[in-house]
Amino acid sequence: MTGTMTQDGVATAGTTAAVLEIEGLCAGYGRIQVLDGVGMSVGAGEIVSLLGPNGAGKTTTLLACSGLVKISGGDIRLDGESLLRHSAHVIARKRLAHIPEDRSLFPSLTVDEHLRLCARPGGLDVLELFPELKKRRNKKAGVLSGGEQQMLALGRALVTNPQVLLVDEMSMGLAPVVVERLFAALRDIAVTDGLAVLMVEQHIHLALKYAQRGYVLSGGRVRTRGTAEELVDRWSEIEASYLGR
Ligand code: ATP
Repeated sequence: MTGTMTQDGVATAGTTAAVLEIEGLCAGYGRIQVLDGVGMSVGAGEIVSLLGPNGAGKTTTLLACSGLVKISGGDIRLDGESLLRHSAHVIARKRLAHIPEDRSLFPSLTVDEHLRLCARPGGLDVLELFPELKKRRNKKAGVLSGGEQQMLALGRALVTNPQVLLVDEMSMGLAPVVVERLFAALRDIAVTDGLAVLMVEQHIHLALKYAQRGYVLSGGRVRTRGTAEELVDRWSEIEASYLGR
């Protein structure tokens, strides 16, 4: 996919209009500023990886998109509309879904209950998509395996019919075979449904295998960006940033 740059250096996804645009974003916690002018974009049908060492600001970037951290500068637009004037609960009702690192499932609710609670018109038929979940539809989330829980977290996001999906560390604590299954499903849905995915992923090889483009964050700034192929070619540079060099 060929990329272009806006005047602000925000890469747009080739011929696909950006659905999520982050521009000059400054955000943090109380007086602590974590993000310092972060810019990125995600187009429809595109998976974009957010890479970088611990503490770089990856999770904070996703939280800012969902209205969960204090924003002191810049802008975040969903389909051209600024999200800045909206609080988190209003953003949650828009077509932006967020799968946090801890999955945030309700242990005492069943698979079915999770999906029914969140379903919106146009949402995917998740039980058809994941037969593994269909078999467990009456089980409580708290008794599911880690992989099934992550599948449910992904499913719960997909039944909301999102335009943009934010995914934080989908592979956390899961067996490689399960992780590949989830990423492959995500890639298929992105392509088929034109879903824009911004994902934080610590495993660089996975992140670049499934994403079309990526941004490397360090110290709250974007240090490197490019297509997955370009970033693979700059592997040693990325590894060095993880090691603080
Ligand atoms: P990791 O890969 O370790 O999850 P990250 O790139 O996602 O890291 P963030 O979680 O966004 O990084 O954290 C960025 C910075 O913000 C860190 O220095 C962290 O200590 C700080 N931070 C995160 N959450 C809070 C909080 N609730 N209050 C204050 N500082 C915070």
